[in-house]
Amino acid sequence: MSAFADLTSPQVAELLAGPRKPVLLLPVGAVEPHGPHAPLGTDEIISAGMCARAAARLADDPEVRVLVLPTLNYGVTRFGAAFPGAISISETTLHALVVDVCGALTARGFSRIVVVNNHFEPAHVATLRKATAEAGVAYLDLVRRRNAGRLTPEFQSGACHAGQYETSLVLAEHPALVDTTTMATLPAEPVDMPTAMADGKADFLAMGMDRAYCGDPAAATVAEGQSTFDVLTDLLVEAIREVAR
Ligand SMILES: [Zn+2]
Repeated sequence: MSAFADLTSPQVAELLAGPRKPVLLLPVGAVEPHGPHAPLGTDEIISAGMCARAAARLADDPEVRVLVLPTLNYGVTRFGAAFPGAISISETTLHALVVDVCGALTARGFSRIVVVNNHFEPAHVATLRKATAEAGVAYLDLVRRRNAGRLTPEFQSGACHAGQYETSLVLAEHPALVDTTTMATLPAEPVDMPTAMADGKADFLAMGMDRAYCGDPAAATVAEGQSTFDVLTDLLVEAIREVAR
C-alpha cells in the first residue's frame, strides 16, 4: 500500500517506529487546457504516475518506505485563462497550501518529503521553489538543466505544453483520456515558450498557441510515454535517496 491517505492513524505512527525511513511524495498538478486533444488534468496525471512508479520500484526497499500523499491538484495557471477549463489559484494560496501541508507533516516527524510537479508556468514553479525552501522539504525541479537534459528533445526545446512529450505520457498512463483522432490532425507548433516569456508574452494566445498547445502532439506514442516515465522515475528515485541520506 503506497497511498498515505489509505493508512490508518496507528499505521502512520508505526511508520516512524519502523526500520525503513518514511519518504512522502507530494504530487502537484494543475487544471488547465492541454490542446484540443489532451485532458485538463494532464500535469496531475504525470506527477501521480511518476510517484506511483517510484513507490512501486521501491516497494521492497530495505532503506526507505515511500508513500504518496493526496495530490495537490490546483496551480497558478494564467497562461490558459482565455480557454475553457483553466482554474488558477493565486501564488499566495499555493504557497500557503505547500507550507501548511508540509508543516503539518514535519511537525509530526515526517521531514522527508519530495514535492513532484509537472506544471511549468514560471509563477507556479517560482512559488513551489520558495514554499519548499521555506518548509525545508525537497523539490524535484524538472526544468533545472541537469534534470531537463535527461528528458526528450521536445521538452528541452521549450515547446513543452501538450505536445509530443506530455501527450505521450498521458497515452502511456490513461490512453482513453487522449482524443487520438483530433491529436493526429494537429500540426506541429514549434513555440519556444521560455523565449516567448522572456519577450514578455504572458499567455498562450500571445505566444501563438491559439489551440493551447505547442510542440508536436501528433507524434506522441505510448512507447515514448513509457520511456519518459522510466526517466522521470529514475530522477524521482534519486531525489528520494537524497532526502533519505
Ligand atoms: Zn502540462
